[in-house]
Amino acid sequence: AKSKSKGSYALFNDDFGITIDRQHQMERELKLSIHNNELCCYFQPQYDYEKKSIVGFESLARWHSAKFGMVSPVTFISMAENTGFIKELGRFVVDQTFAFAKTIQGRGIRVSFNASPVELLQADYVNYVIERFCYYGLTPGSVAIEVTESSLIESFDEVIKKFKILSGYGIYVYLDDFGTGFSSLTYLKNLPIHSVKIDKSFIDEVVTDRVGRDIVDMIVRLAKRLNLEVIAEGVETQAQIECIYDCGCRMIQGYFISPPVPWERALSLLDVMHK
Ligand code: C2E
Ligand code: CA
Ligand code: CA
Ligand code: CA
Repeated sequence: AKSKSKGSYALFNDDFGITIDRQHQMERELKLSIHNNELCCYFQPQYDYEKKSIVGFESLARWHSAKFGMVSPVTFISMAENTGFIKELGRFVVDQTFAFAKTIQGRGIRVSFNASPVELLQADYVNYVIERFCYYGLTPGSVAIEVTESSLIESFDEVIKKFKILSGYGIYVYLDDFGTGFSSLTYLKNLPIHSVKIDKSFIDEVVTDRVGRDIVDMIVRLAKRLNLEVIAEGVETQAQIECIYDCGCRMIQGYFISPPVPWERALSLLDVMHK
């Protein structure tokens, strides 16, 4: 199937750094991924270092393509957005996440999932989330939606309205990748959100860089003042955990605890790491 003319190799798509030809193939495969059972969610523990217990999971989409191998969500999410497949993909993620949350209901665990700005701005996205939340009979506080600060850029008021509707049902809102956006400190106090997730780029530096540590310290203190929970993401070492804990943050997510794992494996982690 590799009968390309010499010229077609020059046709690169800037977004993915791959040939247009390959991109179109991948788009076609992506559209079939749900039907072909290639799409699933993995779950990464969110760990309370003080309680020494898993208190949450983040649901992360995975595409094991028969043709392309493991494709990063960074690639296939934006591809799905460009092709319109994002609607189906997003609904799939919501359903997987809620089904998982239902399975572990009653154990005091919250399962979060990601919504890109494009998804959040779809007219019927929030309605779908609420409809499924009710369908699965989930209890308030058992799931959370992770959104980035960039969601707020385009239509601030509209997005705030959506946050309020979601939290009204007990679907918590987390501000993801906190500190990397355009933003933050000035409007943070008016946002109807439950938690902020400190971006990995700050966690990377927390041990080695004095300023990096000060930033984490400041984010944690500000969040506490505003009665927000803080989760540190991308924690990879014991030294980082200790440093973060010293800053007053007890909620940890990262490879040091566990990478994202398939459904069954997540359940068995819960057996050994949940109190
Ligand atoms: P994110 O929401 O910031 O997710 C955190 C990413 O960091 C995940 O990458 C996770 O596997 C990775 N990670 C967690 N702990 C560590 C660590 O200790 N070290 C390192 N190096 N990485 C760590 P992943 O799963 O590849 O997802 C990348 C991004 O793709 C996510 O960033 C999110 O923006 C997007 N994404 C993933 N799944 C979905 C989804 O279902 N829907 C939407 N809209 N976006 C998704
Ligand atoms: Ca996230
Ligand atoms: Ca993040
Ligand atoms: Ca990120």
